[in-house]
Amino acid sequence: MPYVDEKNYDGEQPSSGNFMKLQQGENKIRIASQTFHFKKHGFKDSGKYSSKICQGEDCQFCAEGNEPKNRYSWIVIDRTDNGIKILEVGWQIYGQLLGYAKDEEYGDLKTYDAKIIRTGEGLETDYQVRVSPKHSEITEEEKKSVEESGIDLEKIFSGGKYGKVEKPEEPPVEEKI
Ligand SMILES: [Zn+2]
Repeated sequence: MPYVDEKNYDGEQPSSGNFMKLQQGENKIRIASQTFHFKKHGFKDSGKYSSKICQGEDCQFCAEGNEPKNRYSWIVIDRTDNGIKILEVGWQIYGQLLGYAKDEEYGDLKTYDAKIIRTGEGLETDYQVRVSPKHSEITEEEKKSVEESGIDLEKIFSGGKYGKVEKPEEPPVEEKI
């Protein structure tokens, strides 16, 4: 895969107001893109948490011995306001979605709505995923909104190494943290 190395990239994620924040209770979404898998380094500094995207080879944070965690992202339709947003999750949510994706009665995550149910706070936060048994296609109008959003997950989460891939493949990423 060809990629562009942005000099002096420091792992900061490009900012965007389009990130979906999971609220307490039900968050109903429709996944509208392929899964984009990447890794992130977490840092805790005097109780404050921050993160940097892993840059793979030559990553300075890996070199410092910080073990990156797997992250998964999609472009989603937020069913509460029908906004086109970016959803970024860890294994707890992805693992459950993967279970549905691999179940032949559900299959492709883009063909049904999903509910992410958030309970608890802080370290006690828990996420349960349930999906709709009803399959339906994303409407043409929704497809258009996704396109017009211009969200490019690879660009956002590639850790500074960004190159257009002709056909992104979609192997299930099962690696655990
Ligand atoms: Zn790294």
